[in-house]
Amino acid sequence: MSLQDGLDGGSDRFHDECGVFAVFGHPEAANLAYLGLYALQHRGQESAGICSSDGVNVFTHKATGLVNEIFREAQLEELPGHMAIGHTRYSTAGDGGRQNAQPFYVECNKGALAVAHNGNLTNGHSLRYELEISGSIFQATSDTEVIPHLMARSREPNLRHALRESLLRLEGAFSLALLAKDRIIVARDQRGFRPLAYGRMTYEGREVHVFASETCAFDLIGAKYVDQVRPGEMITVSSEGLLRQQFAPPLKQSQCVFEHVYFSRPDSTVFGRAVQESREDLGRILARESPVEADYVAPVPDSGVAAAIGYAAESGIPFRHALIRNHYVGRTFIEPKQSIRNFGVKLKLNPVRHLVAGKRVVLVDDSLVRGTTSRKIVGIMRDAGATEVHLRISCPPTISPCYYGVDTPDRDELIANNMTIEEIRGYTGADSLAYLSPAGLRQAVADTAGAYCYSCYTGRYPTDLVGIEQLVREHRLKDDAAQGEIAAARSGRVD
Ligand code: SF4
Repeated sequence: MSLQDGLDGGSDRFHDECGVFAVFGHPEAANLAYLGLYALQHRGQESAGICSSDGVNVFTHKATGLVNEIFREAQLEELPGHMAIGHTRYSTAGDGGRQNAQPFYVECNKGALAVAHNGNLTNGHSLRYELEISGSIFQATSDTEVIPHLMARSREPNLRHALRESLLRLEGAFSLALLAKDRIIVARDQRGFRPLAYGRMTYEGREVHVFASETCAFDLIGAKYVDQVRPGEMITVSSEGLLRQQFAPPLKQSQCVFEHVYFSRPDSTVFGRAVQESREDLGRILARESPVEADYVAPVPDSGVAAAIGYAAESGIPFRHALIRNHYVGRTFIEPKQSIRNFGVKLKLNPVRHLVAGKRVVLVDDSLVRGTTSRKIVGIMRDAGATEVHLRISCPPTISPCYYGVDTPDRDELIANNMTIEEIRGYTGADSLAYLSPAGLRQAVADTAGAYCYSCYTGRYPTDLVGIEQLVREHRLKDDAAQGEIAAARSGRVD
């Protein structure tokens, strides 16, 4: 476990992989993109980037780090133009370097193109293999890079048509922003896995169009939410105006329910529903399903707060911030040489002793992935004198990995895949443990139309993924062999 894992329970949480932002029609487009990425920072902290255009040239800057570390006045001044796209990224260890920072920028027969992507292409490996065999040279390891390569290969001279042709080859989850020198285009996969919102504002009487993974990015820049980019839709914005088109018909919706449970900011509207409302309802329904006698309801901050408010309101048990989070813990920290019990978690979360001592506490958290962090938190509550600790989780047991743009541990590392609820309770040391039911989750997000993905709770996937874990493993193994094959194919052409 890395120190960072210890600090934030990093490996004991699912991680979203990206946030995207796009703007057209404002003379300070890169500044707006910077602010938008700042609001979307929670969706990825490994790297960030912005590409802008003044209609003639495309400018780019990206690096590893946080948005405010990467962009200073000097960098933003070098990103002129009235349109921009931006990206903030989370990645798994090993591929979080600058090479995979987005937007990806290429110059090809379609001109200069930049692409920013939130999601995961389930056929990314096979597309890349096919492209490499036929001569494409990739700069990075991310699946996103196949998109500009597919566009470069397209025989369609028209950029929109080339993008449409490329999008039709993609499988899996994508909310995309693309920048060419004279336009931006955004698109969302046919099942709508990941969110992408459309908003508007005015500047000197002219309309400015903005797009973002979450609406909290609009609030910061003064834009108003208009609509979602619809599943299967492609929106082009240029000096000729805004054009909405379906690049393909929508399929049965699979909006990621975990956006409402954990990822998205509570001040965002995601998939047309306020996240705070969903989270409070998660807590209310959890209280109805799994009541317990206690003195306080306390959230595991920050993401458990809204569900704990709902649990307290429904149960009538007082809500207290009995665990305080230190928001100033940096990315690196010098660990004391002498080991301190539960050091990593204590650094970030500390119980309020006078509230906890001698009390029965309901602890509300949004998820329980490996169980290691929950075990430590229960431990520090007991050390602080809690007489009973009742864990309530505002989603069903997580039993299966995600293949649609969320970084998850392997299936065999998910505690709910290996233990019964009673065994997990014993492992965490809690007096009782209860999860929200699948029906409760559907009710909390108002899913009357069956429009959400619940695959990490059911193990049933909305797309064809038969044997994908094996395929991913095989592809990793095959990568080495493929490199030899690709090199041979290339040298054959050179000869
Ligand atoms: S598998 Fe889970 S995390 Fe992934 S898209 Fe579906 S609900 Fe979201």
